[in-house]
Formats: sequence, C-alpha cells, structure tokens
Amino acid sequence: MPFKKILLDEEDIPKQWYCILPDLPKPLSPLINPKTREPVSPKELEPVFAKECLRQEVSQDRWINIPEEVRETYRLWRPTPLYRATSLEKALKTPAKIYYKYEGVSPPGSHKPNTAVAQAYYNMREGTPRLATETGAGQWGSALAFASMLFGMKSTVYMVRASYNQKPYRRILMELWGAEVYPSPSNKTESGRKILEEDPKSPGSLGIAISEAVDDVIHHNDAKYTIGSVLNHVLLHQTVVGQETKKQLERLDEYPDQIIGCIGGGSSFSGLYWPFYYDKVSKKAPKDAKFIAVEPTACPSVTKGYYTYDHGDTAKIIPLVKMHTLGHMFIPPPIHAGGLRYHGIAPTISILSKEGMIETRAYDQVEVFDAASLFIKTEGIIPAPEPSHAIKAVVDEALKCKKTGEEKTILFLLCGHGHFDMQAYDDYLSGKLLPYEYPKEKVEESMRELKRLYPWLNDELKKIH
Ligand SMILES: *Cc1c(COP(=O)(O)O)cnc(C)c1O
Repeated sequence: MPFKKILLDEEDIPKQWYCILPDLPKPLSPLINPKTREPVSPKELEPVFAKECLRQEVSQDRWINIPEEVRETYRLWRPTPLYRATSLEKALKTPAKIYYKYEGVSPPGSHKPNTAVAQAYYNMREGTPRLATETGAGQWGSALAFASMLFGMKSTVYMVRASYNQKPYRRILMELWGAEVYPSPSNKTESGRKILEEDPKSPGSLGIAISEAVDDVIHHNDAKYTIGSVLNHVLLHQTVVGQETKKQLERLDEYPDQIIGCIGGGSSFSGLYWPFYYDKVSKKAPKDAKFIAVEPTACPSVTKGYYTYDHGDTAKIIPLVKMHTLGHMFIPPPIHAGGLRYHGIAPTISILSKEGMIETRAYDQVEVFDAASLFIKTEGIIPAPEPSHAIKAVVDEALKCKKTGEEKTILFLLCGHGHFDMQAYDDYLSGKLLPYEYPKEKVEESMRELKRLYPWLNDELKKIH
C-alpha cells in the first residue's frame, strides 16, 4: 500500500504566529465584568495570566515573532507530518484526495504543547515559579505538565473527578512530568469546597475545574493560570500547524477545497484554518476553501448553543465572554470525546460562524467511532475520539464526491492519537456506546438561568421566556 507522507525540515518550522484579529469581519466584543458591566482591561487580569499572553490576547499585530527558545522546543517534535490518506480514499472509492496533518507525534500526543510551551516560556521569563490549570480527560494537563517541566517550573493540575477516577493513565503521565494533580472538585480551593458541600459526590466538569485553577492562582502569588483553548493567544500559538500544512501542500502543488477539524474550545481547528483564512482575506488563495468545524451532538455548543455573553467557568470567577454557549452550569454527559465537552467556544469561531464563514455540524459518538474504525483499518493510526469527529465529516464529504464525481481536495487535522482512549474503543467494540443528543430544553433552561442572573444581557436571550 503506497503510504504518502510529506515531511519538512527543521528550518521550515514557522518563525511567526498568525493572529486573526486584524482580519476579522467584525471586531470581537470585549470581556465584561458582570459587576460593573464594563469591559475588562488586560491589566485587571495580570494576577491571573502572564503579561505577554494578555498582550497577545488583544494584539492587532497580524504576525507575532516566535521566541527562539520556543522554536528550539518545537524541534523536539516539529515539523509534524502531513499524510495523504490513499488507503482511506481507496476504501471509500472516492475521487476526492484526502490529506491529514498529524499532531499526535508530540510527546503528550496532541497539538496542545504548541501553546503549552509558549505559555510556559513567557511565564518562566516573567519569573513565575508555578503554573496552575484544569484538565478534562488529561490532554491539556499533560501538555502543560510537560511544558512546565521543560522550563523548570512546578505545575498544579485540577482534573475533572470523573476522569481522575476512570482514566488514571493521563494522571500518571502528568505526574511523570512533575505535576501535582488533584481531582476536581477538590478541597484545595474555595470554589471546590463550595461545590463539595452542595454535592459531595460531584463528578466535576471542566467549568468547575477552571474555577478551581483560577481560584488557586488568585489566592497564591507564586502561581499563574494557563489555559488550553478558547482564548485568542492560545489559538494563535496553534497556527504553526496550518502554516506548516500550507508549505507541505505547496510542495505537492495542492490547495484544499475543504478544511475540516473538530472543535472543543476551537484551538486545534483554528491553528489549521487561520493561515488559510488569511490567504482568503488577503486574496492570495488559489481556491475558495470551505471551513467545516465538527462538534459532538452531546455537547453542541455552536449548533445548539446561544450566542451571548456567558462565563467560561462554573463559579463565575472568569469575566463574561461573548461566545456560543450551552450555559456555564453545563454538566457534560459522559461521552468519550473528553476534549469536546466544554460548554463554550472560541469567540473567533462564534463570530465567523455567525457571519457564515465557517460551517458547523454535529455528529453522535457512534457514527464517529464507526468512521474512526474505518480510518484505523485503512490508515493504521489510532485517532483520538475528538478528531474522529472530523474523520466522520471527511468520510461524508468524500462519499458526496463519489456521487458527484468531483475531485475535491479535503484536508483535515488529526490533532491527537487515541492511545489513552482504549476504554472508549473497548466500549465501542463491545457495543456499549450509545448515540446521545443534548436536549434543546436543557440549553434553554440554562439560558433562562443566565437571564435571571444578568437581566441586562438581553441580546440573544430575548428569545428565551
Ligand atoms: C483538547 C483537545 C481537543 C479539543 O480542543 P480544541 O481547542 O478544540 O482543539 C481536540 N482534540 C484533542 C486531541 C485534544 O487534546
């Protein structure tokens, strides 16, 4: 079987990150302090985040230099390979060409260290001794533990309790990289204790774990908070992915018609599509590439959520962010794509899907694992459940091409491997996985709650009674 892999040299690792903010069709809405109802200035967030990350968060500079120390660290696993999925194409009998960029080759096994090393580096330079964060199934926590260790810092990770109990291997990985890992809700923080008082058996959620990590850094001055997705500075650090991919496709004289990725908070997909979006707005694109973002029906933030101001965390410590949301009190159903169980989404994804520049769709976990299984049997690599959502969309698009005879070029991001997801695959193989759709009524219930909290938030919430 002719596997086709396109590699780059170390010199091809990008020297700058691309920032989409100056190229958005509309400016992003500012973060809002719910008490004053005023925009939050980056300065107010300095006790929480590294200064340089805050500067990048609102930067209107299109290109941001990657520090040489960060590029040196990227060399450990970058540039990452681009593959042509020839066997999958053959199995689908499609005239479409399918390419995928593979981020599973990083030591933690996903795209997340692309931003973890940048955030750790800036914190190290600003003299932070310890980094705190949350993690769901453990991908972000392990990337942050890895990056903190590389730059000689301590790390504390609040891990959603349900995952902490059910998925010990990522916790062990974090501990090997030197992190202290606590099941969240924990008794280490005020927000954790409050939730445990109400519900001692709380399984936790990403929203709760974020509250705990932020709580920790607010009450200890040795630590800063780091985040794995959603915010602009995180997404821009991921653009090394799309820039490398463009170069790899150029070598083949190819340009994608469709660019597909899964979205949890939106960082991996943004890392892939932003550089192609830049081609489009700067009129350099040889084709009008379509961007397709895929989420689970169990956590349909964009396809079923409301576009409104909401908190990024359950304890409402984080200011209000304008984004698509299922409500900050969202407790995720137990589906296996741990990285896609967040109630909100990157504000840039929200704006671009609102403007019709990104298409969003949702699939349930059974059809997603069916697609993953076909991918494994043809391409050999075990995908994480999260990017398997993208694979399902790719299969659908390739089958459409089979019907129409179109020779489209489809590009997708395989943002992580599934070596720590064997329980999910075992459940799939034994027929225990069930399709699940998050009910619209539950979203509306959360929106009513949000409206009760902030009656002055009346944009989209007008529709809720
Ligand atoms: C964290 C994670 C995701 C979801 O986060 P995004 O910010 O949307 O990328 C998806 N896939 C993998 C492998 C992850 O680790």
